Amino acid sequence: MRNVLIIGGGISGLITSFQLANAGFLVKVIEKKSYPFHRVCGEYISNETIPFLKSLGLYPEQFSPPHINELQLTSVNGKAATLSLHLGGFGISRYSFDQFLFEKATEAGVEFLLGEEATKIDFINEKFYVNTNRQKLEAPLVIGSYGKRSKIDVVLKRNFIQKRSPYVGVKYHIKTDHPANRISLHNFKDGYCGISNIEDGKTNLCYLTHRDNVKKYGNIPELEKNILFRNPYLKSIFNNSEFLFARPETINELSFETKAPVENHVLMTGDAAGMITPLCGNGMAMAIHSSKILSELIISAYQTAFDRTQLEQKYSYAWRSLFEKRLWAGRQIQKLFGSEWTSNIAVNLALHSKPMATFLVDQTHGKPF
Ligand SMILES: Cc1cc2nc3c(=O)[nH]c(=O)nc-3n(C[C@H](O)[C@H](O)[C@H](O)COP(=O)(O)OP(=O)(O)OC[C@H]3O[C@@H](n4cnc5c(N)ncnc54)[C@H](O)[C@@H]3O)c2cc1C
Repeated sequence: MRNVLIIGGGISGLITSFQLANAGFLVKVIEKKSYPFHRVCGEYISNETIPFLKSLGLYPEQFSPPHINELQLTSVNGKAATLSLHLGGFGISRYSFDQFLFEKATEAGVEFLLGEEATKIDFINEKFYVNTNRQKLEAPLVIGSYGKRSKIDVVLKRNFIQKRSPYVGVKYHIKTDHPANRISLHNFKDGYCGISNIEDGKTNLCYLTHRDNVKKYGNIPELEKNILFRNPYLKSIFNNSEFLFARPETINELSFETKAPVENHVLMTGDAAGMITPLCGNGMAMAIHSSKILSELIISAYQTAFDRTQLEQKYSYAWRSLFEKRLWAGRQIQKLFGSEWTSNIAVNLALHSKPMATFLVDQTHGKPF
């Protein structure tokens, strides 16, 4: 009975697999790609995760991740303000961090089915049947940690998947002169761009925009020249940096709609349970925290007579208490970004009403766990 199948080996799937394998579970992770690989992500991880990562030996010390404690905000027309971050974060690429977590999980005994995609899932008589592009698997427990959007969401007929989402994400690694302790959030029309350092003296440049912006200009370089460059900070960074990818990583159909943490008995973690708007810089912290609470509840459920209904109820309750308010705050704060006048309000707030601005930023962060 202590078999667990995890669909998706991103940050939440990897950390959940590590915890469960260490507690004696037989864990298989189905991951459609092969490590290491780049993902669209700002790669700023909130410091709230450090105590937990250190307790598992999963804090990536050997990469000497830069520590970030200052937020710079610029408006669409280039007005700037800085705020200190109470909690702050550290920077590490997903390319390195996910590979590191994959190695740790493999050492802990997790079996990986790499390059394999889950395509269908059924729950019949207390058992899951999961089809992949290669085989059919069975397990009494399935965890959905497959991120923002997947074929499985279509199979499960989840509500958010019925609606199209207009957001597109673009990411580069660059070499540039960016202060190691700073995360910058530069606004442009219908979008914002985060810039912060990662390991090996590199900088992450990642932005979110509306697909109409891409459609209007036909391609990413034209979009950047015509829209992002109107913010003088962005123009200067694009013109004075070395771009390390031949082409950017991109992702579309990003949805910040409400989801449910349990769907047809599948226990969802990370973005599969709910995605926070990226400007809050906290999706990974939430993914890690949801892995922690879910693993602990599963371990404790198997210490007594296993009761699926109770496990699902306890997990849904814990997930909602921890994250629902934060997701809502993220959606509200997102409205301040991407337009000339609201981004000016945000910068003016940071310039003239620091306590209020700091309070708003704090709403998007959790407490150390
Ligand atoms: C533009 C942008 C910027 C961001 N910036 C930040 C930031 O700076 N800080 C931060 O904390 N968060 C940030 N986030 C959010 C963060 O990236 C996510 O919250 C985090 O990656 C969620 O982790 P996860 O494990 O849930 O999903 P993911 O890391 O997305 O992993 C899901 C995995 O599942 C696999 N998969 C999907 N479907 C299947 C399938 N059917 N079968 C097998 N495998 C499958 C995928 O290949 C992937 O490896 C950002 C997001 C975006 C879009």
